[in-house]
Amino acid sequence: MKINAFLSIFICNCKIMGQSYTYRCEYCGYEEHFNEGHGFLIHSQPLEQYLNSGIKLFHYKIHRLLIKLAKQYDGLFIQAGFKVYKCPKCKLLYDKIEVRVYNEKKVIHKSDFRCSVCGKRLKLTNIHRLKNAICPVCHNKTFKIEYENFKLWA
Ligand SMILES: [Zn+2]
Ligand SMILES: [Zn+2]
Repeated sequence: MKINAFLSIFICNCKIMGQSYTYRCEYCGYEEHFNEGHGFLIHSQPLEQYLNSGIKLFHYKIHRLLIKLAKQYDGLFIQAGFKVYKCPKCKLLYDKIEVRVYNEKKVIHKSDFRCSVCGKRLKLTNIHRLKNAICPVCHNKTFKIEYENFKLWA
């Protein structure tokens, strides 16, 4: 019963809580979509409830870490969603599923991602304020957001 309730919340939130942004290179025409939003789990899902649900949303390494953390601490919460990251060196954009684990209000685990080109640690970026980035194909600074192309995940 508990699991069913969780599942229904999970399914609803999949559809309405994210946005997709299209970036297009003005120079070479390369196009890519970036997702942002909490499409996987509602904010502050109890970690234990997630683990008991039997659903595996993450990479096995993260899943293993979550099990380990749940054994170490009681009453943890988990939050996950798509976030847009930027490499501070290459200025390339990435969308990644960020996982945060909270103990009370303190974050005890946060996803860490590295740039696949230079290996630097990626930084969270505010896609709403980002006007242009570096095109991953031609490497010009002409990778721009297409304002008419916002769409909610469906
Ligand atoms: Zn880089
Ligand atoms: Zn380009």
